[in-house]
Amino acid sequence: MTTHLVWFRGDLRITDNRALHAACEDPQARVIALFIATPEQWKQHEMAPRQAMFIYQHLQALQHALAERGIGLHYHQCDDFADSVDWLKDFCEAEKVDALFYNKQYEINERQRDAALEKAVSESVICHAFDDSLLLPPGSVTTGNNEMYKVYTPFRRAFLSRLTESDSRSLPAPPARENAGKVVMHRLMPFDYPLADIGEDFAIGEDAARNQLRSFCREQVQDYLEQRDLPAVDGTSSLSPYLAIGVLSPRQCLNRLRAECPDVLEKTEGGAFGWLNELVWREFYRHLIVAWPKLCKHQPFVEWTDNVRWRHAPEELQAWKDGNTGYPIVDAAMRQLNTTGWMHNRLRMIVASFLVKDLLINWREGERYFMSQLLDGDLAANNGGWQWGASTGTDAAPYFRIFNPTTQGERFDKTGRFIKAWVPELVDVPERDIHQPHRWAEKHHRVLNYPLPVVDHARARKDTLAAFEAAKNRS
Ligand code: FAD
Repeated sequence: MTTHLVWFRGDLRITDNRALHAACEDPQARVIALFIATPEQWKQHEMAPRQAMFIYQHLQALQHALAERGIGLHYHQCDDFADSVDWLKDFCEAEKVDALFYNKQYEINERQRDAALEKAVSESVICHAFDDSLLLPPGSVTTGNNEMYKVYTPFRRAFLSRLTESDSRSLPAPPARENAGKVVMHRLMPFDYPLADIGEDFAIGEDAARNQLRSFCREQVQDYLEQRDLPAVDGTSSLSPYLAIGVLSPRQCLNRLRAECPDVLEKTEGGAFGWLNELVWREFYRHLIVAWPKLCKHQPFVEWTDNVRWRHAPEELQAWKDGNTGYPIVDAAMRQLNTTGWMHNRLRMIVASFLVKDLLINWREGERYFMSQLLDGDLAANNGGWQWGASTGTDAAPYFRIFNPTTQGERFDKTGRFIKAWVPELVDVPERDIHQPHRWAEKHHRVLNYPLPVVDHARARKDTLAAFEAAKNRS
């Protein structure tokens, strides 16, 4: 009997999983599964303890789902990637594995690990690697010169012209095998990594993720464009934590979107298209890290921006992290992140701009802090978002686009509903004054237990423009 091993990594689901599906195609084969935890690697990337918990709980759900189909999940913990290659080679020998199935990961360390593994087992194991975590594989959407796009809009145009109906087709979970129900389930030991509570906002399991997707596409997607920028409104899908660890696939997202809005691929407007556009951003950033692996090493896309003389300002950095900058929309956003592990996209843009352009602090500090808190932490999307905010990335907009945190708040949280939910010190401040609470306090002789702004925006703006200008001149 041949033995097929499915190695789960960033794809913790049994539905629409290409590697799992292929491994199960031969009904005679013995199919086993594996997950390897690498806490040392996670520490290096400062993965959020709540994301580690999210992975752990989904691993438990995956173990059950696989066992019901007659597939036992093996679990091991290694220090780092080099270790995992050695251990996996021995495991394949011990389990007499004939073929290994896995879905590709696109970060540079992961790609190097997989290349080393394929080499190490090449004599005895056939490796089957699948493009699974994107709608279109990296390298398949290129310019006329066969190069990756450096700007999003032409990428999207080319991407959508390549996308066909079959790209949204998703695979069912594999059928139960002969030994279904007879698999011994070993207790999964908690990772040797800090684990933190994930709260109630994100239910565990593929079914929960798919239900959330279904109700979003059915009930909310039409209003997406009007609501997506308002943090006080539940107007986006909140599916990012599931997409980040592969509990949900982008094909399932597109498939469901097309089921509710059949003409979404023919249109270039409306809520459904707006949401599809976000899924394409996700693709763009992943395609980018393959074309420019330096992004995985946190190098700026635009090289001269490395000449910017960032400020060393630990106290202001801490105030930003804690949500105590004195700018209500920034503070509310950071407190949402610290409490829930999720932050609204508009707010991610505002707080990133504030850290880099108002405090002139290196964007890598923000990138790292986000990873340490986010439930949806994802190297490509996070790096892409931070480099966008810092004007060091592929974005077409120049470095002199600087968000004004006060007017951003006025525009996107007009009445201060979101601010008041996260900054209780400001509940008594009237709506019209919520974005400049100290002005109101002074006028009405009130004492506010809320910090004064850590920086004057107008002055900071000038300093930042000068710092970028000087960096450009030095290049
Ligand atoms: P929706 O609006 O419902 O969008 C659907 C899906 O599309 C999301 O779940 C996500 O997978 C994807 N998506 C949406 N916007 C983007 C985007 N701008 N870039 C890439 N993918 C996108 N997203 C992450 O998944 N992980 C991160 O670590 C991350 N860090 C970010 C850091 C910064 C500074 C910025 C500006 C953005 C970051 N984003 C990140 C992108 C975006 O903010 C989140 O994906 C989005 O807020 C998640 O909420 P949602 O699921 O409701 O999104």
